[in-house]
Formats: sequence, C-alpha cells, structure tokens
Amino acid sequence: MAANDMRLVVVGAAGRMGQALIRVIHETEGVTLHAAVGREGSAFIGKDAGEIAGVGPLGVPVSTDPLQAFLDAEGVLDFTTPATSVTFAGLAAQARIVHIIGTTGCSIEDEEKFKAAARHARVVKSGNMSLGVNLLGVLTEQAARALPATGWDIEVMEMHHKHKVDAPSGTALLLGEAAAKGRGIDLASQSVRVRDGHTGARPVGTIGFATLRGGSVVGDHSVILAGEGELVTLSHSARDRSIFARGAVAAALWARDKKPGFYSMLDVLGLSR
Ligand code: NAD
Repeated sequence: MAANDMRLVVVGAAGRMGQALIRVIHETEGVTLHAAVGREGSAFIGKDAGEIAGVGPLGVPVSTDPLQAFLDAEGVLDFTTPATSVTFAGLAAQARIVHIIGTTGCSIEDEEKFKAAARHARVVKSGNMSLGVNLLGVLTEQAARALPATGWDIEVMEMHHKHKVDAPSGTALLLGEAAAKGRGIDLASQSVRVRDGHTGARPVGTIGFATLRGGSVVGDHSVILAGEGELVTLSHSARDRSIFARGAVAAALWARDKKPGFYSMLDVLGLSR
C-alpha cells in the first residue's frame, strides 16, 4: 500500500459484486482495501476478504461493523440492497466520505434519502457503472431525439442471470430515462413495464420494457427503435462483472477531491452536458 492510496471499504463483501470489487481494488494502483463489511449472520464474517474473492489473503477480515469500518476510510463501494444502501448513506454522510452506490431497485423515497446524504457525502450513484453502458445511454438519448415518436416506437429489452431480484434492471431504467430525455417526455407516466393478455394496440409515444431472466447472464441490454419497415438496435453486452467494479473504483477516485453532492457516472466519465 502506498501512502497516498485511497482507502476503500467494500460493503456486501461476499456478494457477486463485492468479490469483483475486492479483486479490482487489489489489482488497481492508487487504491487499497481498508475494510470489508458483510451481512450479520453471513457465513463469511471473520474470513479474509481476499480469500473470499480468490486473490489470496489481504489481512482484511469481513466484519459486521460499518461504523468501525468507515472510520479512517475515504470511500465506500456499495452494491447491496436498497435498505442497506440507505443505512450506509447515512453513515457515509456522518463520516463525510465518498459513497459509490451501485445498488438497483431503489424507490423514490430511497433516492430522496441518498440526495439528503449527498449534502455531506460525495455520492456517485448509477444503475450501471460501465463506460459502455453510459455511452449507450448518450447514444439512446440522441437516437430518441432524432427519430420522431409518431413513426418510431422505443422498446428496452434486457436479460440477466436467474438470481437477479429486481425488474426491469437498473440499466434498463437508465436507458429508458435516456430515451425519455431525448423525447422530452416523463418516463414514469409514459412507460409500459408489463404486457399480458388483450392489451390493445401500442399507445403512441410510450417506452416499453421487456425482461428476460436465466442462467448466468451478467447483463445484456438492447434499445430497439422500431419504425415502418426499418429497425435500429443499440445494444450492450456485459461479459464480466469487473467492468462495473472498475467503474466503481474509477468513480471513487474521481469523487475523492470533489465537493459533497449527488453525481452520476456521466459526470465521472465526462459524458454529462
Ligand atoms: P449479491 O446478492 O450477490 O450481493 C449482495 C451482498 O450484499 C450479499 O453478499 C449480501 O449479504 C450483502 N448485504 C445485504 N445486506 C447487507 C447488510 N446489511 N450489510 C452488509 N452486507 C449486506 O448481489 P449482486 O449481484 O452483487 O448485486 C448487488 C446489487 O448491485 C444489486 O442491486 C444489483 O442489481 C446491483 N448491480 C449494479 C451494477 C451497477 O453497475 N450499478 C452492476 C451489477 C449489479
């Protein structure tokens, strides 16, 4: 560990993303694993975080005490559950550190709590931390702006592994928001999240979502713009969770010297306008 390394805490350390984060921190210069936090009652408590992630012992046991873990830390990488992320947002704000939130499926009330915490913490939150998907969001917004709603229907299709618990994915919603922004409409009132039975014809100007679940798919997303006699498909395929973990670590380093506030990956990647 170098003296100026950013000291990062991984919460949800034994999870799929937690392990990917520990591996990426281990192989990235300028950051160090300061502490690892797991769920109370988890079989991984007390085990070495590096052993769990498959990189060998790092001398950092997984604990259940976030308060102690956040002490002297500079940032928290959080891919857990909405309720857990809300709790950690409060603690990160008290500690006035960086909080990178990758957790998806959060409610509007949760989002308000994150924004309140961002008065004291530097929060970066995104439904997808990869460069490719954030670029896809920018392209989706442009395409939705260029192709008129009267002739072009927008559908967002996603597929994830069978263990995923929320739908549509945070990324599908991020892409839906980008399309809605391009069209100048409100996604919440214009989205069609489920179709079943006799639905009637497709309402003009809506944004549809289709969710597929199965196997070990890390995350596939397509934005389909369907016109009369032609189809434009913008798509992204995540092959490895490390793309999200690398994005999260890059976000933490980016936020290190920023003012408290609520940021997105578009800010981190310089893609926001
Ligand atoms: P997972 O279930 O494998 O991991 C979640 C971990 O959080 C588990 O180990 C669980 O024990 C832990 N946890 C739950 N409550 C806790 C608590 N109170 N204290 C400490 N740890 C606690 O899930 P996953 O596949 O790693 O995904 C986690 C989240 O990240 C999901 O919401 C998923 O959609 C999201 N995700 C986001 C991105 C992105 O780029 N934003 C990418 C992948 C996954």
